[in-house]
Parts: sequence; structure tokens; C-alpha cells
Amino acid sequence: MIDLRSDTVTRPSPAMRKAMADAEVGDDVFGDDPTVHRLEAAVAERLGKEAAVFVTSGTQSNLCALMAHCGRGDEYIAGDSAHTYRWEAGGGAVLGSIQPQPVRMLDDGLPDPVHIAEVIKPDDPHFARTRLLCLENTKDGMVQSIERMAEATSVGRAAGLNLHLDGARMWNAVVSLGVDPADFTADFDTVSMCLSKGLGAPAGSVLSGSRDLIAEARKWRKMLGGGLRQVGILAAAGLHAIENNIERLAEDHARAARMAAGLAEIPGITVTSQSTNMVFVDIKFASPELQSTLKGMGILARVSSSPARLTTHLDVSDDDIDAVIAAFGRATNP
Ligand SMILES: *Cc1c(COP(=O)(O)O)cnc(C)c1O
Repeated sequence: MIDLRSDTVTRPSPAMRKAMADAEVGDDVFGDDPTVHRLEAAVAERLGKEAAVFVTSGTQSNLCALMAHCGRGDEYIAGDSAHTYRWEAGGGAVLGSIQPQPVRMLDDGLPDPVHIAEVIKPDDPHFARTRLLCLENTKDGMVQSIERMAEATSVGRAAGLNLHLDGARMWNAVVSLGVDPADFTADFDTVSMCLSKGLGAPAGSVLSGSRDLIAEARKWRKMLGGGLRQVGILAAAGLHAIENNIERLAEDHARAARMAAGLAEIPGITVTSQSTNMVFVDIKFASPELQSTLKGMGILARVSSSPARLTTHLDVSDDDIDAVIAAFGRATNP
């Protein structure tokens, strides 16, 4: 099957599995796992941060960050369709007693700087204390440049807020922009990145930042049930991913662009956006039937409604792109 549903569907390659099998391990709750230490050091170094902590998922990473920055009754600002606001089951509010303040997002996923300035609360007993601004990059595959992010972060900094980057797919942005990852993340106090998306590891995220914030996040990770034992087996997959699978993201981007160009030729399909490894399409005949027809042709894609998101990743080849374009042509114009 060619699986276009997400870049989370990749299976560990034989080389990654070998790295996992060979991993040196110890009890990471005791701080004894050398492979976890290597992964944390490697990520901190690439992002120019003092420290990093390996966590189970992007959701846990963002929540540990929220709880490290904010206390009970504090507030964080995030875009109204940001993962940290909309897609994490309200964890900041439920588990952190932290009030979310959503702001509208501009077309490229940047929280509107004007709206950010409007919602920052003055020091007044009526209000939650605004503590943190969260950005997300990439957002639906879309990239904001370093200068573009600064339009929002400068407003937050001027008001004394801390800054967090939900960089679940930050490597897609870094590769697409051709910038140094440390420059990309320099403005942020904490940065979360996923190993389990475009980088192809089976699990895990890494949160990086200052020594103090990461020590605090480590405590919350334990409270949230994320203290794991001989987890160097997973960290080895993460190390393999950052050593081998970052530069090659450019191939996923090129394939997504080629898929977008091919699909745009098909009557009834309109490509509404393509950036990095994601293609969004409006399909005139979107339906559960279309989805099962494509499945019968060996393609897994969520096309029961429009717009549909199609994603490229490690397990989608050039030949697969040709097969996808041909199958969409046949399935939508029988
Ligand atoms: C996937 C994702 C997350 C959460 O990661 P999980 O590992 O699925 O919990 C957070 N933020 C963004 C932008 C994501 O795409």
C-alpha cells in the first residue's frame, strides 16, 4: 500500500532496526541510559540549546513545555488551530491549570502579531497572567521564515513573555529554508521536535531549551507517566533518524511538488496548497466511495471529504508518485 495519510506511518528501516537492536541501554529514570544521553546531547547541540529531554510524543513534549513555563492560573497564547491549542485534548488546562488564549492565524500559520498584542493581559487581579507565546512551524506543511516568525516573537518578547516553538516538523522547514537549525530556533526558550514524523522513527520527541527549563520539564515528564527505563532502544532509532533522515526530507518535498503538479492536471481536482511534504486538494467527487476505490488500487488516503491532505514521507518513492497520479485520474474520472 502507498500510504499518504500522514508522515507518521513510516516503518523503521532495516538499518534503523539494527541500530535499535545494537543500542547500549540503562535505566533512564536513574539517568543511566547512554543512548538517551547521546540523543539528548545531539539534539541540544544541533539546536544550540543547553539541554534536551527525550519524551514519548509531541503532545507530551508540548505539555511538559507548557508546564515548565507556566504555573497554575497562568496563560499561554497559541494560534486558534495550533496543535498546542486545538489538538492536544486541552492538556494544558486539564493537567496544568493553564488558561489557553487562542489568537487568529495568518495564511502561513503565523499567529497574527496584531492579535497577539491585543490579547496580552495587563498586570491586574482580574486576569490570568500571560506567560508564554507558542508558535508552530511547519503548520500544515507551510513554512514561516526566521524573519516571519520574528514578527510574532518580537511582540511576545517586548511584553516579557517566554517563547515556545512547536517544531514537530521543524526539520521540514529547516531543510526547505536551507538555514542552520540553531538560527531557526535561536529566538525560542524551548523547542519541541518529533522523531516519529518525517524523520521516520517509530516513537519519540525531544524537547530542548535552557538547563533550568529542561530540568523542570523532566519533572513534569515523570509526573505525566513519561519516565521510561531501557528506552535507549527507541533513542537509538531517534539518533539514526537525525543522522540519516534530515537532508533527505528535500526528496519528500520534491515528490510532494510533483504529486501536486500531476493532480492539478486532473479534472475535478484543485490543488489548494503544497508546501514541504504536504499537498492539500479539493476533490469534486470526494466521498467514502472514492476512498475505498483508491484503497482497492493500493492507495491509502483520507479523501472522504474535501479538502484532503496528502503527505509524502520515507516510504513513498518516485514510482509511487506516478502510481498515485494515475490512480487518482482513474478513480475520479471513471
Ligand atoms: C504531530 C504533532 C504534534 C504531536 O505529536 P504526537 O507525537 O502525535 O503527540 C504536535 N504538534 C504538531 C504541529 C504536530 O504535527
